[in-house]
Amino acid sequence: MNATGGSASPSIFSRIIAGEIPCHRVYEDDRVIAFLDIGPLSRGHLLLVPKEPTARLHDLSDESAAALGRAMPRLARALMSVTGCPAINVLLNDGSGAGQEVPHVHFHLIPRHEDGSGLRKEWRASKLDPKDGAALAESLRAAVTS
Ligand code: AMP
Repeated sequence: MNATGGSASPSIFSRIIAGEIPCHRVYEDDRVIAFLDIGPLSRGHLLLVPKEPTARLHDLSDESAAALGRAMPRLARALMSVTGCPAINVLLNDGSGAGQEVPHVHFHLIPRHEDGSGLRKEWRASKLDPKDGAALAESLRAAVTS
């Protein structure tokens, strides 16, 4: 079992990258591929996937992360111009506890159309406690630079 509870065999996205399974490809370079989600939440719902076969975000290389960041605005522009969507939600389910089903890092780009189709989010905000916030940020600053 891997970190997401999936098997260690190649993920379905690795098989798409290898050309063993078809997809509706939208973009590809040396490090990433983007294709239409087979179960779209809205028209144009894309998945942006690093070719590196990594299940979880914290294990991803800087090179793959940079390539994902480079591709994302390009895909957003394409989605806006082709589908006419005025807004997009970008989502990463990182870990089975966060709803990740395919154990291979992937960003969802989900157009929000004027008819309301797209991601429906439940955002249960609380209020940041200033003391806890200061301590937490200090710990995270130390962790992120180490
Ligand atoms: P997640 O829950 O974040 O792991 O999302 C997995 C996504 O992969 C879902 O939205 C599925 O519809 C999508 N998906 C699974 N298999 C395929 C496939 N063969 N081609 C395109 N999208 C897929």
